[in-house]
Amino acid sequence: MSDEPAVENARKDFIREIIDEDLASGKHEGTVTRFPPEPNGYLHIGHAKSICLNFGIAQEYGGRCHLRFDDTNPTKEDTEYVDSIKEDVRWLGFDWGDNLYFASDYFEQIYEWAVHLIKEGKAYVDDQNAEQIREARGNLQEPGTDSPFRDRSVEENLDLFQRMKDGEFGDGEKVLRARIDMAHANMNLRDPVLYRIAHAHHHRTGDAWCIYPMYDFAHGQSDALEHITHSLCTLEFEHHRPLYDWFLDNLPVPSRPRQIEFSRLNLNYTVMSKRKLLQLVQENHVSGWDDPRMPTISGIRRRGYPAEAIRDFCKTVGITKFKGTNDIGLLENAVRQVLNKTANRYMAVLDPIKVTVTNYPEDQVEEMEAMINPEDPDAGMRKVPFCRDLYIEREDFMEDAPKKFFRLSVDKEVRFRCAYWLKCNEVIKDESGEVVELLCTYDPETRGGENPPDGRKVKGTIHWVSARHAVDAEVRVYDRLFSDEDPEGGEGSFLDNMNPDSLHLVENAKLEPCLADVGVGECVQFERLGYFAVDPDTTADRKVFNRTVPLRDSWAKKQKK
Ligand code: ATP
Ligand code: MG
Repeated sequence: MSDEPAVENARKDFIREIIDEDLASGKHEGTVTRFPPEPNGYLHIGHAKSICLNFGIAQEYGGRCHLRFDDTNPTKEDTEYVDSIKEDVRWLGFDWGDNLYFASDYFEQIYEWAVHLIKEGKAYVDDQNAEQIREARGNLQEPGTDSPFRDRSVEENLDLFQRMKDGEFGDGEKVLRARIDMAHANMNLRDPVLYRIAHAHHHRTGDAWCIYPMYDFAHGQSDALEHITHSLCTLEFEHHRPLYDWFLDNLPVPSRPRQIEFSRLNLNYTVMSKRKLLQLVQENHVSGWDDPRMPTISGIRRRGYPAEAIRDFCKTVGITKFKGTNDIGLLENAVRQVLNKTANRYMAVLDPIKVTVTNYPEDQVEEMEAMINPEDPDAGMRKVPFCRDLYIEREDFMEDAPKKFFRLSVDKEVRFRCAYWLKCNEVIKDESGEVVELLCTYDPETRGGENPPDGRKVKGTIHWVSARHAVDAEVRVYDRLFSDEDPEGGEGSFLDNMNPDSLHLVENAKLEPCLADVGVGECVQFERLGYFAVDPDTTADRKVFNRTVPLRDSWAKKQKK
């Protein structure tokens, strides 16, 4: 696990070194990269690593980065995903300008290139079904066997491929394959499938096509058509690179991109595959793709993670060829670092217990002053009303407190942040013995929380809210979605490792009145509790907050135990 801090003048990663060489040698005059999502799900934090790399290179080198949808699989794709992906890339702070492309825009050209290969004797129509093709492929120890249809004439192949395109055959009845080498050491070069039949509606081309190119036969050619210089992808494509190059070598493409692989981002305590994320959504384990517990960009945005923190995190993780898993605590720390600088401070009580200040005048209200953000003096001060009726956090009071408990207990004094020192004199309980109210007195000589002239000391400071002025709110206290570091490891389903306490719903939180004005999406600090963002479920008369991240990493402590 790598959790070294970001170093400003860090050595360039190996991809940027390659780019430097290519520019210095004159191989390229500038950089053109691309981010190529398949629109079959929402983007996740792993995609952010690829986005930051590709768009980051464009920014640093004054090049451009294309957003290209790899939409060659009509049955799983949808415009809902196209729209969400665009929104997420923009939110992360990147701009593709005019460079929005779809692999489906190249279907005609890719088809012509398939015809070109047939004419060169380098592709053939195979009547075997998927099962037969798989069996004939051999394995790492044994070569494959040639298809009985491998030696069809060019004319027959051209005719059959045309008829495949015209819709004469059903799904799976025929495929077009490259004619490379069934004994090749790299399995990807054992006559890979180029086109398959799928009578399916495509989200952009409609019913114009019933044959679709395979990913491998579309990707490199799309790169070449867009004059991509460096085609950056994750390590699982390493063994596809010889095929990527074979197509570029055997087709009259207009440019020669270079594929370079890097290791994908993995995080503990989460799953990242789109198939599993889709399962979480479809089986209602979460409220949707943008559930704040999801590792999707839309989920973490809703939770309150700032885009800047995600970019910082991706920089810290860096680009290498080493496979590994990063600690999610690293991401949470990046979030804390940004929010500590930017989030305004307020007081909120999530589990209220009533406090009555018995020696405070019944009708009096004082406007106490508190800093909006101690990390940003320009943010100025806010006013917080103080009166006889207050709320404090239930866990900030203990009747029989041990010596080290520096919060409120009977006959003990504590500082109420930016207000006064209060002493608890009496505890009122209901029939069941639960504490319902604390009767306290305040010391007028401690206004603003200052030390009194007699030199008395207190150790603790607690937060509070005026009961008369409080704004009611719902607070969704989120924790990690999985309680196991490696949810996909071990026996059984990853669903068995879901954290049953990943959502704690607080329906009756009491907020400082200033919080009534905080808008949807804004993230603030509730003093002593953590960072919280206003959820879009907020209505005119009910505020809803999501806990973004607690102030400290409580999991680090748990793990030590
Ligand atoms: P998933 O495994 O989640 O389904 P995918 O690779 O199928 O992801 P694509 O839409 O094809 O999803 O990915 C678009 C780009 O994002 C690809 O270039 C892919 O390499 C990259 N990418 C996907 N997941 C990660 C990851 N975890 N870390 C870094 N890059 C990733
Ligand atoms: Mg993919």
